[in-house]
Amino acid sequence: MSFRRIEDAPSNKTALVRVDFNVPMADGKVSDDTRLRAALPTIHALQAKNCKIALLAHFDRPKGKRVPEMSLKPVAEPLGRLLGAPVGFAGDCVGDEASAAIQALPAGGVILLENTRFHAGEEKNDAELAKQMAALGAFYVNDAFSAAHRAHASTEGVAHLLPAYAGKQMERELDALNAALGNPKRPVLGIVGGAKVSTKLDLLQNLIAKLDRLAIGGGMANTFLFAQGHDIGASLAEKDMADTARAIMKAAEGKCKLLLPVDVVVATEVKPGVAARIVGLDAVGAEDKILDAGPETLRRLIAAINDSATLIWNGPLGVFEAPPFDKATVAAAKHAAALAKAGKLVAVAGGGDTVAALNHAGVTDDMTFVSTAGGAFLEWMEGKPLPGVEALKHG
Ligand code: ADP
Ligand code: MG
Repeated sequence: MSFRRIEDAPSNKTALVRVDFNVPMADGKVSDDTRLRAALPTIHALQAKNCKIALLAHFDRPKGKRVPEMSLKPVAEPLGRLLGAPVGFAGDCVGDEASAAIQALPAGGVILLENTRFHAGEEKNDAELAKQMAALGAFYVNDAFSAAHRAHASTEGVAHLLPAYAGKQMERELDALNAALGNPKRPVLGIVGGAKVSTKLDLLQNLIAKLDRLAIGGGMANTFLFAQGHDIGASLAEKDMADTARAIMKAAEGKCKLLLPVDVVVATEVKPGVAARIVGLDAVGAEDKILDAGPETLRRLIAAINDSATLIWNGPLGVFEAPPFDKATVAAAKHAAALAKAGKLVAVAGGGDTVAALNHAGVTDDMTFVSTAGGAFLEWMEGKPLPGVEALKHG
């Protein structure tokens, strides 16, 4: 994938850097600094180029107004601690205060600018706001993949006004995503699970066009089983999506091999200690809820993973939050992660609950890449162009 990278950026200039500092806060303090640490490689790379660094970020949803509780100020101090040098703070992301503070920075110095969403123009991608942002730097770096699906002033508008580069974190994410779906080593297997077909229609449609095999699990598989004429009892399903499920199965014919459950784990309630049963598709009782994939389905999935060079995964295979219904998800995750760690599989995953499921399985670090970008990751899996990424291909 071609986009500009920090190596190509100039030295001895001011870099305007969009980061994701939408961090969890408790009592006005950063309670988890994962996102601050994620920005360090980009900051260090720019410091090595002797650049001044002005950080742009949004926090929460102030909806275009100054909301004191949504200030980014509490982020400056912990970021400074991680960098080993104080990080300044300017009370606005544009204008004289920001500009004077940047002027005063030494080479390699870092300043954090106030929440971009305090300006109504941010989410409207207002041209004037983007121009004021651009006036602060000589070039722009976007390191916030998680915000790249939004065309906002700080993610898209400004990228067209300055030479624009991907930050280190953005670069790592784009390279991993490209290796999984853009230009993957084949055969490529997808696993899509989760609750509903309706939230993942575009995703399914994009994947059947691009993958060699697609395993469908979780609640959404129930809708497919129902569409095939199976009795799914009291399972979560979207019966009104049966036609859509049939259309997807038809569209996949001859292009992408679909793997649907052939056996399932059922219970009458999602409750700790409830009796879980493994049954074939013809033996789901009227009161039964399908809550996980069965052992034969898991065996076939593992065989498919073994036969693949690349895996792209979104959505758990069962109600993993309630063991024992985490079994198929955990077993498939452990298997994929072990192959990835051994260099035999490119295994990329993402999605809010998927990240939680992989953490629960204890395999996040062994996967090739796990995206925490949420909406941006899903839109990318849907094959949609991300405005913040597209802008890095021009600028
Ligand atoms: P992600 O956030 O990774 O995109 P989703 O939000 O689509 O994933 O789906 C995750 C949810 O799907 C989990 O809360 C899980 O409990 C639920 N789920 C998985 N399998 C089933 C099932 N068989 N029945 C009901 N819910 C399920
Ligand atoms: Mg979710």
